[in-house]
Amino acid sequence: MLALGLPWSERLVERARRAVGATHEAARAALEDGVAANLGGGTHHAFADAGRGFCVFNDVVTVRQALRPRVRRVLVVDLDVHQGDGTHALLADDPDAFTFAINGFRNYPFKRVPGDLELDLPDGTEDERYLDGLSRLLPRAIARARPELCFYLAGADPYAGDRLGRLALTSAGLAARDRLVRDGLRAAGVPVCVTLAGGYAEPIEDTVAINLETVRTFSE
Ligand SMILES: [Zn+2]
Repeated sequence: MLALGLPWSERLVERARRAVGATHEAARAALEDGVAANLGGGTHHAFADAGRGFCVFNDVVTVRQALRPRVRRVLVVDLDVHQGDGTHALLADDPDAFTFAINGFRNYPFKRVPGDLELDLPDGTEDERYLDGLSRLLPRAIARARPELCFYLAGADPYAGDRLGRLALTSAGLAARDRLVRDGLRAAGVPVCVTLAGGYAEPIEDTVAINLETVRTFSE
């Protein structure tokens, strides 16, 4: 429970199972329709042996496995501000999965697990530098992954008003980020399963507004 950061309860277990199920449904819908979202999920700190950092089960890796062999090559675009250490560890030996992430450098988790392509940004990074890095690296990630499906972790926590984020993006910057991801994947013809991942703004309404904008962007 210390590592997870949440008290155990039957309801927590049920919630964690349903979150994985919802990502599974969203991924299947994305394969049919091109895009779908889970209003949750993106629990990228969960390892095989234990949950960590508010993440009980690793939904993306679980669903990646469940969809085999129908889907062989996958790309994980993880733009939650925290590094997806669990996802990186679980996919390390999977030659058909490629992970791309933009992380806050001085943030949780402090023991990193390397992914395939990562950009670490210093505290206080603003829109321009972030979007610059994203537009430079995303095409590279798509080219190297040649994915049949993308899992996008649209974390709201790179936001300036986030309590745990340490970066300084605006809501407009985060919306521009989502459009870049949407347009890049669309141009490459890659279906995308969107998950929300983290968001800890004060007030919480800011996180909700960012999440809503993500869903709106991907429904356009
Ligand atoms: Zn996070």
